Amino acid sequence: MSDLEIARAAAIRPIEDIADAAGIPREALEPYGRFKAKIDPRLLPDGGTPGKVVLVSAMSPTPAGEGKSTCTVGLADSLARAGQRVMIALREPSLGPVLGMKGGATGGGYSQVLPMDEINLHFTGDFHAITSANNALAALIDNHIHQGNELGIDPRRITLKRVLDVNDRALREVVIGLGGPAQGTPRQDGFDITVASEIMAVFCLARDLDDLKERLGDITFGYTYDRTPLTVRELQVEGALALLLRDAIKPNLVQTIAGTPALVHGGPFANIAHGCNSVIATRTARRLADIVVTEAGFGADLGAEKFLDIKARAAGLAPDAVVIVATIRALKMHGGVAKADLAAPALDALRDGTANLLRHVRNIEKFGITPVVAINRFRTDSQEELYWLLGWCAAEGIEAAVADVWGQGGGGPGGDDLAAKVLAALDRPVSFSPLYSLDLPIEDKIRTIVQEIYGADGVDFSVRALRRLKEIDANGWSGLPVCMAKTQYSFSDDPSLLGAPKGFTVHVRDLIPKTGAGFIVALTGSVMTMPGLPPEPAALRMDVDSDGNAVGLF
Ligand code: ADP
Repeated sequence: MSDLEIARAAAIRPIEDIADAAGIPREALEPYGRFKAKIDPRLLPDGGTPGKVVLVSAMSPTPAGEGKSTCTVGLADSLARAGQRVMIALREPSLGPVLGMKGGATGGGYSQVLPMDEINLHFTGDFHAITSANNALAALIDNHIHQGNELGIDPRRITLKRVLDVNDRALREVVIGLGGPAQGTPRQDGFDITVASEIMAVFCLARDLDDLKERLGDITFGYTYDRTPLTVRELQVEGALALLLRDAIKPNLVQTIAGTPALVHGGPFANIAHGCNSVIATRTARRLADIVVTEAGFGADLGAEKFLDIKARAAGLAPDAVVIVATIRALKMHGGVAKADLAAPALDALRDGTANLLRHVRNIEKFGITPVVAINRFRTDSQEELYWLLGWCAAEGIEAAVADVWGQGGGGPGGDDLAAKVLAALDRPVSFSPLYSLDLPIEDKIRTIVQEIYGADGVDFSVRALRRLKEIDANGWSGLPVCMAKTQYSFSDDPSLLGAPKGFTVHVRDLIPKTGAGFIVALTGSVMTMPGLPPEPAALRMDVDSDGNAVGLF
């Protein structure tokens, strides 16, 4: 059965029942239909000790798919099955990839959040609100220029782009304002996908409405003719933007197939931004549950590093355990097997591929946390391969468990071993500290990440990046953390270097200040902020029947 068919066959409960079981009072619940609701965190009772945080990350992704969301959902269901009060905090899917590539963001098999079709489509409209806020800001900037340009905005140096939550390569570069003086000032502009916008990152790092407004005001949208940075606060529109986001900022409550409560909220890109659900959702979940299972995008070199160095600092939270998802298939690909040959047993390649997993495990240890490895079981995995991998983990002193949460569902026994290992990890003390101090200069922060986490010899800055480093210093932004934009497929900036490459240099070609989000993006390789559609978009297989049921959505 497809993920959609499994989701549709599942018994879904009214959202009020899920809220009651999670201890959410009715006055804090704002239902959107029967199975989704927003929660107003201000109306929740004062919690006791905040719940512990389990971060789910992964080895370097491959086209074979690792199943982070599937394991996040399955682990939470298994912890609930073990009698724990659990809540999930996940990202919202973006419509661009949903219509483009096959694969949603609501888990898979019997470990999914419901209603999967609604979550993967418009959900509660948060991304539309973010799109509107971003495009309202773009319109206000152009209007300011049209009305006399009191701030002296240089139309050639506006860094804020318009956005859409659709993959549309034709809009990457556009010219606006054509048609004479009544149509405004002509200038080159472009569109990003909504999830790549700084407003999305701001939305996900804000602690509450006031912090949201503050961060919106801090966004640098462009520069004057003499290259002085200009913020949204100087345009005096942060209040209007926050108003447009007033409802979207409340976390969305849904449920898993097994009935575990899940907050699905916010969804910044994992390359140009930090790739985790909103701080508000994670903090709300911690008030409601003893254990919060959350996820970070891409592999642990990107997602977990950014969670630990950016989100944990912004949210004032220290994770209590980290899970690294690995699969036999991905390990074999890192060991040199082609995707088409993954079903055949290949112990040698499996052994070679463990180098990738090992580097991720040792990296997490550098933050003071001993991770647990979740081996996400696929039907094609042989017993021999699974036993070998468990034996290898034991020999390396790595806690590991095979999880069959995709096939059995987290409500069944498939995730019991993993849940037990995670509970044991939560009982051990952690001494979390971020990888680098914020006092280090930006270039040293980048050097620390590429040497300590990627295993590179060093970093090479382009002439443009060196110039930007000077500007960042002059503008007083050196104290911000760094958000690395790098391929997720390799520890290096070359996606073809699989496994655990050595002897390479990472090339930083540009640095982009995101002063509202509060980080400096370091661009390596080519990073796409407006994806295109593939030759056969997933949209070709989608339909809706006469009763309004989704068809062909994964
Ligand atoms: P990620 O979060 O790493 O991107 P997902 O959890 O979204 O991965 O899973 C990606 C796809 O892989 C989904 O369609 C899911 O159904 C599938 N998948 C995940 N785990 C398994 C598994 N153990 N067996 C088969 N398919 C799986």
